[in-house]
Amino acid sequence: MDDPEAGGFRREMASSVDVVVVGGGISGTSAAYHLAAAGVDVALLERGVVGGGTTSAAVGVLAPPLRQPFDETVHFRGADEARAIWEFALRSVASLGTLLRERGESERVALDLTGGFVLAEPHTLVRVQRAHAALERAGLPVSWLTAEDARGKVGGRGFSGGYFVDGGGCLSPGPTAVALARAAEAEGAGISEGVEVTEVRRERGGLVCDTDRGEVRAEMVVYATHVDSRRFSSYLGDEIVPIRGQALIADSGGLSFPGGCSTHWKLNVWRSVPDGRIALGGWRHDAWDRSYWKMKPDLDPGLQGDLQGWFERAFPSAAPLAVEERWSGIFGWTADYLPLVGPLPGRTGELVISGFSGGGLPFAFEAGRVIASIVAEGDPVPGAKLLDPRRFT
Ligand SMILES: Cc1cc2nc3c(=O)[nH]c(=O)nc-3n(C[C@H](O)[C@H](O)[C@H](O)COP(=O)(O)OP(=O)(O)OC[C@H]3O[C@@H](n4cnc5c(N)ncnc54)[C@H](O)[C@@H]3O)c2cc1C
Repeated sequence: MDDPEAGGFRREMASSVDVVVVGGGISGTSAAYHLAAAGVDVALLERGVVGGGTTSAAVGVLAPPLRQPFDETVHFRGADEARAIWEFALRSVASLGTLLRERGESERVALDLTGGFVLAEPHTLVRVQRAHAALERAGLPVSWLTAEDARGKVGGRGFSGGYFVDGGGCLSPGPTAVALARAAEAEGAGISEGVEVTEVRRERGGLVCDTDRGEVRAEMVVYATHVDSRRFSSYLGDEIVPIRGQALIADSGGLSFPGGCSTHWKLNVWRSVPDGRIALGGWRHDAWDRSYWKMKPDLDPGLQGDLQGWFERAFPSAAPLAVEERWSGIFGWTADYLPLVGPLPGRTGELVISGFSGGGLPFAFEAGRVIASIVAEGDPVPGAKLLDPRRFT
């Protein structure tokens, strides 16, 4: 798990700002960065440490951006919207990469934009082929890999093919949130750690955030609180469903992977960590009852064993895996696997950026730009309407 201690942001906070962002994960820091860069007076309040929530539990794979085979996205959203959603994510990853490079953070966050490998096993080959065909029809940057290509690029055994996504790769998620918070701070945002927002109330046409360290007045509030949003909105509490995922980090056993790797549309994801280890995560859909609506990040020894066993079978040269740490974390899922980004239904001045459904890393940066464009009334961001939280009302 990423070390979330590195940020060292201050605890003081302003008593009045234009916008308060609640939550300092990849979503909140992205929103704070874009808001500050747009000239908005913004304060981010994080109850723990920046990047220390689910963001630090993520494996760090950026591609593919969606948890859903692309042909299914086309089926549900139509070809144009499905393409726009992918393009949104590809743009997000590219512009995040540019910012991290410009700020000299690439090494610290282990930025690798080699691309993403979506691998097929015999029982998923036909679905992976269908998804790839739909991506090709949409003109998106993917290329098919034969079983031999997959072996050559990623290694392992038992992969029947797959496709390469040109765009994405992987990074270290917790340090990325810290880097974004630093970038936001450089643009003038106030970042405060160790401040819990307990309630948001309306007073004299504005909003007041009550915290355990006093109150902050604001014209607008952005909830980047992920699965902990119910205290602010029952709508968010109902629409963002907590699902528990398992992950581990191990000695690589000499294996090295380019970019981000996955099977089953990110059900299993893995990447090389620059210090020579591999990070691996997976939530097994055959144990839905042990993952669904679980709010506590408990280790599930059975699923940890499945995850490790699956990886050892796919990469026998690394078996037995020398596991150094195991952890779990909570994904916030929505009904269509897409985040809620924009105005909170029925609540003037309150916005949300949450519910990334296990794929926050490729989406969050551009989603933060959507929030800033709404608040600062800037140019509309292409694809933003597709993520509007009001789509479920
Ligand atoms: C095991 C696992 C592996 C994953 N792997 C990947 C992956 O490879 N690729 C990928 O794209 N995604 C992955 N994810 C999903 C990814 O972690 C999430 O999509 C993303 O981190 C969500 O970021 P967030 O900022 O919305 O939430 P969080 O990081 O949880 O941030 C929310 C923050 O809000 C703060 N907060 C909450 N309530 C309050 C309050 N009242 N006051 C102040 N602060 C508050 C919390 O402390 C927290 O820091 C994985 C998730 C898990 C669990």
